[in-house]
Amino acid sequence: MMNNPYILLTPGPLSTSDTVRSVMQKDWCTWDEEYLQLVQTIRQKLVILATHQHIDYTAVLMQGSGTFTVESVIGSVIPKEKGKLLIATNGAYGTRIAKIASMLNIPVAVLQEKENESISPKDIENILLEDPDITHVAVVHCETTTGILNPVEEICHVAKNLGKVTIVDAMSSFGGIEIDVHEWQIDYLISSSNKCIQGVPGFGFVIAKREGIEACKGHARSLSLDLYDQWYTMEKFYGKWRFTSPTHTVRAFYQALLELEKEGGVHERNKRYEENQTLLVDEMKKIGFQAFIDRNRQSPIITSFLYPDDHFDFQSFYQFLKEKGFVIYPGKVSEVQTFRIGNIGEVYPEDINKLVDSIKEYSTIKGAITL
Ligand SMILES: *Cc1c(COP(=O)(O)O)cnc(C)c1O
Repeated sequence: MMNNPYILLTPGPLSTSDTVRSVMQKDWCTWDEEYLQLVQTIRQKLVILATHQHIDYTAVLMQGSGTFTVESVIGSVIPKEKGKLLIATNGAYGTRIAKIASMLNIPVAVLQEKENESISPKDIENILLEDPDITHVAVVHCETTTGILNPVEEICHVAKNLGKVTIVDAMSSFGGIEIDVHEWQIDYLISSSNKCIQGVPGFGFVIAKREGIEACKGHARSLSLDLYDQWYTMEKFYGKWRFTSPTHTVRAFYQALLELEKEGGVHERNKRYEENQTLLVDEMKKIGFQAFIDRNRQSPIITSFLYPDDHFDFQSFYQFLKEKGFVIYPGKVSEVQTFRIGNIGEVYPEDINKLVDSIKEYSTIKGAITL
């Protein structure tokens, strides 16, 4: 990989292709026709990626990291007068949504699940039946804290049957796992530039029905994170952002979308990530590392591994792998000691095999990990 001393096995920012990075060599004028056209094409492509029913849907791009877009949705979608948000959480990103809502003084109900258990649609249904004040339901698709998948389609169906609005943080799954927002009944889907589309950081995006965005008019608790106003400006002025946009990131994202298409779309990308993930888990098991999440709930996005024993020194493991050309992630689970390895980005089974060889080497040197 050109100019890169290591590959990132982290769930965003992640390793991007040389071609994605190279298109950032040009400076752009934000109101020039060519740039606006680029933005409009990206918005169209995102809608097409998100559903076969693209006529009714629209995409809004928002500056900042993914959390800024989550905050924009939470702060714009729920009416100021009457509204209560149910957040089902089994990890740090779900809990972050609850924190955003409470900072915005939005009434919240929290369904707290264990970090190694998926959110149960039945539990959601029970809460919704008990508390008719709830108007909106938010859930994370792939909880990147652990790599666990939540049954978003079933959850959204339950919520919609009871007349609720659905918000899905698909930050780490969109582009890497097939989703159809129309079929799954997701009212607002959130993702960002530096996850499975394999772009660089700088903006997030929302996919929703046009009428869903129009319904946000006048509800925003923030000027810069006003989802409706951002959309309105992009629509009215054909791709214009209200405030300075991350131009180089936008151009790189366009290239990343083309490369996703070239790979064969989300279906093929998902296959590669699945291959990376299953290869990793199988080989790690042979060395003595156990995955934290059961296989049937595990996403192809990121894998949490338990420390093999009490003497395991993550810092030394991390440094060793970094020198070998791999950057991994510390754990984020609250109750047990884990570390994480991302399976997404410009990463192929050959890379996983090389990583596993380095981990074997570490185990042999340290002699600490036994089968
Ligand atoms: C990456 C991620 C986010 C956003 O994180 P930022 O650091 O703000 O980009 C939100 N939710 C999930 C599930 C994520 O994986």
